[in-house]
Amino acid sequence: MQAEIISIGTELTTGAKLDTNSQWLSLELAEIGISVIAHTTIADDLDEMVATLRTAAERSEIVLITGGLGPTLDDLTREAMAKFGNVPLVQHEPSLEHVKAMFAKRNRPMPERNLIQAMFPEGSEPLPNPRGTAPGIWMPYQRQDGEISHVAAMPGVPSEMKQMFRQQVLPRLDGSGQVIRRARINLFGVGESQAEEILGDLTARGRDPDVGITVHEATITLRITAVASSVDECRAKIEKTRETILNRMGTLVFGVEDEELEHALVRLLRLRRASLSTAESGTGGLLAHRLTGVAGFETCYMGGVVVPTNTAKRELVSVDPMLIRQYGAISQEVALAIAKGCRQRFGTNFALAVTEWPEFDPDDPLGQVPASFVALAGPNVAKVEKVQHFGDPAIAKSRTAKVAMNLLRLQLIEG
Ligand code: AMP
Ligand code: MG
Repeated sequence: MQAEIISIGTELTTGAKLDTNSQWLSLELAEIGISVIAHTTIADDLDEMVATLRTAAERSEIVLITGGLGPTLDDLTREAMAKFGNVPLVQHEPSLEHVKAMFAKRNRPMPERNLIQAMFPEGSEPLPNPRGTAPGIWMPYQRQDGEISHVAAMPGVPSEMKQMFRQQVLPRLDGSGQVIRRARINLFGVGESQAEEILGDLTARGRDPDVGITVHEATITLRITAVASSVDECRAKIEKTRETILNRMGTLVFGVEDEELEHALVRLLRLRRASLSTAESGTGGLLAHRLTGVAGFETCYMGGVVVPTNTAKRELVSVDPMLIRQYGAISQEVALAIAKGCRQRFGTNFALAVTEWPEFDPDDPLGQVPASFVALAGPNVAKVEKVQHFGDPAIAKSRTAKVAMNLLRLQLIEG
């Protein structure tokens, strides 16, 4: 069974509004195993609507329409449905009562135009709309090839559309008998191609469940998609694949679904009852920003400072200016000194430090790759990692903050 979605409204085709209904409906249909072959967006134009409806209903068993059911002159969906089905519009008494009742409830007189909302193409079924005045329409359509397709017209207002889809349309769809469930696993510390190599056959096309890889600012996400006849079966399949992934990727895996490195780090710090402070130059406070965004951070993240200048490095985290003169501000020695000074200043178990890095020269792709250093200081630990800034300069801060957090994450797991 295949479906398609038609969005109606000149506000959509002019670009004034974004069609979010189609996206939402497609995700819903995927959950019950119905694939969507097309999204069409058309203006409030009767002939265009009729033509689009015909094309859609001739090739797809399910056609979902949103928008154009209102009472105003530009709302043409019901007329288009009648013309497309070659039937007249007839009045539906209970719908008329509903429209009247909605106005009575709001203590407003009903404009004559609203009577149209109780008119339906002959042979169609009204779909109740508890949230608004406009009922939807469920209409069968006899195709040229003798098969029957169904068209469901729903309001454009997303909240009304969603409720009507779940309550009225979904129960009328048979689906494929298949359900789809997804899961995400997040990793950090390897490149996309390296991850693919470690995963081996897991990412092969046609594997069940399917495993896909995406990258966002150096975080790799593995997306598992399972198709089965029940939710439980999907879950079991996902669980098995998740285990295989964990076995192969080990400590590269830091979280699932929407979890970021900072969530994993705060979780580990709380588990170990350890505290953290940060001192950043190149990342300009991004570490502090990320860490303070995690619920419950106050129990383990004690504070941070931004130290872009030599003065700040001296005043805030007691870095000896001689050291900077000797090794340069971008050096592992200074990175470590910042981390140690920060740890002392805040009296925390651990401290993370980030040095600055030179400006990128986008006109000189063969020039030296700019690099910064991140450092970790803790009880019996002093580690430095060099971060090379090849690739997109726009993500350098984010990537560097992640390298720093990952350094401590691994220390807490393995150290
Ligand atoms: P309508 O049912 O055409 O009167 O639409 C009512 C309101 O719903 C419009 O003013 C839009 O703001 C909104 N709307 C209509 N279609 C969509 C859509 N496809 N996606 C998101 N919002 C929509
Ligand atoms: Mg409209």
